[in-house]
Amino acid sequence: STLTTAQIREKFLHFFESKEHLRLPSHSSIAPDPTTLFTVAGMQPFKPQFMGAAAKFEEGASKRVTTAQKCIRVGDIENVGRTRRHLSLFEMMGNFSFGDYFKREAIAWAWEFLTGPQWMNMSAEQMYVTIYEDDDEAFGYWTQDIGLNPSHIHRFGADENFWPADAPAKGPNGPCGPCSEIFYDRGPKYGDDSWADYHQTRESARFLEVWNLVFPQYDRQEPQADGTPTLKDLPFKNIDTGMGLERVASVVQDVPDFYSNDVFLPLIEKIAELSERPYEGEQSVSHRVVAEHARAVSMTVADGVALSNTGRGYVIRKILRRASRHAYLLGLREPSIYKLVPLVVQSMGEAYPELKENQSRIEAALKGEEERFLRTLESGIQRLDALLNQQEKGSVLSGQDAFTLYGTYGFPIDLTREIAEEYGVSIDEAGFDKALAEDQELARAGSKYGKSELFGGADETLADVPPTEFVGYGQLEASGLVQ
Ligand code: ATP
Ligand code: MG
Ligand code: MG
Ligand code: MG
Repeated sequence: STLTTAQIREKFLHFFESKEHLRLPSHSSIAPDPTTLFTVAGMQPFKPQFMGAAAKFEEGASKRVTTAQKCIRVGDIENVGRTRRHLSLFEMMGNFSFGDYFKREAIAWAWEFLTGPQWMNMSAEQMYVTIYEDDDEAFGYWTQDIGLNPSHIHRFGADENFWPADAPAKGPNGPCGPCSEIFYDRGPKYGDDSWADYHQTRESARFLEVWNLVFPQYDRQEPQADGTPTLKDLPFKNIDTGMGLERVASVVQDVPDFYSNDVFLPLIEKIAELSERPYEGEQSVSHRVVAEHARAVSMTVADGVALSNTGRGYVIRKILRRASRHAYLLGLREPSIYKLVPLVVQSMGEAYPELKENQSRIEAALKGEEERFLRTLESGIQRLDALLNQQEKGSVLSGQDAFTLYGTYGFPIDLTREIAEEYGVSIDEAGFDKALAEDQELARAGSKYGKSELFGGADETLADVPPTEFVGYGQLEASGLVQ
């Protein structure tokens, strides 16, 4: 019998308890520090410990901690439904050392957990790792302690094997360091690309990154005037690891992706039932987006995020509207996403009791927002019908008209495209893109970290999501997503 996601979570925490780690609860999905809106990694709540505050940690200050941390990555939202290896809400399993053990143990224990017969029992031959370009110490442990074939090891620069990615050059300030990542070869049924191909493209359907071992030993500070990065040594060397729970569950359960595992399948089936549209073909992207976003929105609302027009509430509102749009594409014309909340509570409520405690509040928040969005869609459809009635068959709807519908009525471009097609009218896509780019340029102006995956703004990643409901012409909201 295969392990459930909950069993894998428990095994991980238990494994590190057996290595004298203190098990602590997940921090909220709301970030503990102002570099991000949401918690993006298991290490984030422990920045003070990495910076040297271990002594203040707790009575009996444990220098070894293990957690399951719920993470939200705004930068991964647009990947949901596309890459099948990215969720917007996922659980990062972590083990942390504050100036205690270092690389040798971190590597040995990750290996033991993944390949040990009583743990994940994954095949040692199918493991591959990456290391930071000059990290001969890590190379030594992987080849000598573990016995990994050097052909299964690749070296990359700071853009790939530093956490946060490219931290020396790009920031944010704070603890950072080189890392070593573990990949699993899911075998030929997932593609014929090779590990060498991954070296070229850094993308693969077959090689799945499952665990990142980070060696935080630097404090990144403001660069010098000429742009030279400033890396100060931390008071001691730390370990920070993140294993993707859902990714490991997919491998262990031998299912093609998250959406067929024990947590997502019931959600997918419920969506197929509500919409009477089977989970197959091109439309299946909508099932996946609805299932994934229902989880993310439920968790953040449980943590106290209120759907709103600024900051976190705005991001979550956009995520829910993206889900609503996909529910609409599946033919759902009544609020439906809130009906998935009981299933989310069922699968995650044990580990995250805040879901159980807030279930009725979550359902009400989702239902209310779905009702509002469906009304927005209806007024957009009326406006679009009026425009299209004036167009000849075979003509082109101006990019500006399409953008006005999007920007002012909050009407999604793919629906505009679909409805226009019914009238035999196409859209000036280039004109729309241009108007959108100009709008985003305005929104981006305030973002300190630009396009960075974890620390950038949400506007560009949510570009296909309407920014606002109808508030009257000329009243576009200021977005201000980035702190
Ligand atoms: P990727 O390259 O696939 O985007 P990453 O390098 O950005 O992943 P890390 O920041 O190293 O990810 O996070 C540690 C681990 O968390 C990853 O090895 C992966 O297993 C998991 N993980 C990261 N992002 C996601 C996500 N969006 N959904 C599910 N799991 C994730
Ligand atoms: Mg990533
Ligand atoms: Mg990666
Ligand atoms: Mg990584």
